[in-house]
Amino acid sequence: MHRDPRTDLAELTLAELETLLTGRGLPRFRARQIFQWVWKRGAADFAAMTNLPRELREALGRDFRIATPAVAKHERSEDGTQKLVLRLADDRQIECVFIPDTPAQTFCVSTQVGCAMGCAFCLTGKMGLVRHLTAGEIAAQVRVLVEATGMRGEPFNIVLMGMGEPLHNYDATMKALRLLNEADGFALSPRRVTLSTVGLVPMLDRLAAEPLMPNLAISLHATSEEQRSAIVPPSSKYGLHAIIDAARRFPLSKRGRITFEYVMLSGVNDSVADARRLARLLAGVKAKVNLIPLNAAPGIPFDRPSDATVDAFARELSEKGISVSVRKSRGRDIRAACGQLIVEGGRKASAAQTLAAALG
Ligand code: SAH
Ligand code: SF4
Repeated sequence: MHRDPRTDLAELTLAELETLLTGRGLPRFRARQIFQWVWKRGAADFAAMTNLPRELREALGRDFRIATPAVAKHERSEDGTQKLVLRLADDRQIECVFIPDTPAQTFCVSTQVGCAMGCAFCLTGKMGLVRHLTAGEIAAQVRVLVEATGMRGEPFNIVLMGMGEPLHNYDATMKALRLLNEADGFALSPRRVTLSTVGLVPMLDRLAAEPLMPNLAISLHATSEEQRSAIVPPSSKYGLHAIIDAARRFPLSKRGRITFEYVMLSGVNDSVADARRLARLLAGVKAKVNLIPLNAAPGIPFDRPSDATVDAFARELSEKGISVSVRKSRGRDIRAACGQLIVEGGRKASAAQTLAAALG
């Protein structure tokens, strides 16, 4: 594979870009100009940067690049959802999704190629982990989505609910949030970001100390240790109760709540007794529950529960004082819904091995 030896400027915060360019004798303001071109104006090469002298643009192009994933596929669902398959510099592919009018405009972004966690109902989990994304690759999905959907200048939210487990790729994920937060770029407030995690406890505690704090969603999916370990493999290391305890000590703003996602699998975790146990588990936690009826797919050994089952579960939670919503699946016709993100070329290597390595 041919690797581009030039430094990728889209991996750098403004401060890092200033250090790099002033180190090469350029005035500091050039860094801000370039940063704005990349993040605010969507430039993918130096030639577009018309307020830079031509010789400088040429010189920059010799040593630096602005890596921008190519759109390999752009699909539109009948419900308005759009899914992009992006090709990265090493030809690996990831998916990201635009979900309009929820009522917000939302971009669903990936943090890894594949995922090591191996949840039994998730197609991305079936791929295993191919590799982590870099901070620039995570944030670049937003640059590409904004252009592809004509959303430049419009407000949007981000959910880190695409392919991958964000807390398994902790540093890159947090740096991506810093890139997106830059005032000279998208100036995206962390309040507009929701990080969804399977619940890696030490990383949750690390997240609790971050200055740029996204909203937190924890994928719980079960109401007993045995049940959760059976469908969410990392749970044998970080049990259900340890996660709830980490949630209890997680710092929240006055009105802040942690979302607990709960994928409903017919006959597995969808009984009223489960709902009652879930309410008991969450007693005293500032929580809301987001029920996600399974998006079924070939190769996933579970069924989606009936609407009546979902309603009964939701009603039970609500009667116990838990605030609850049911996630509508969007983009199922283009396989853009939760858990349906998968691209060719995933590694078939031992899932148990990759998980063990991931959990350290
Ligand atoms: N790895 C993170 C974020 C990506 S998955 C996490 O697990 O939270 C985003 C959400 O989609 C998670 O709540 C996950 O449980 C859910 N999901 C995975 N597969 C699904 C499926 N087949 N149907 C419905 N939701 C699914
Ligand atoms: Fe990974 Fe999330 Fe899928 Fe589990 S649900 S395999 S953590 S992407």
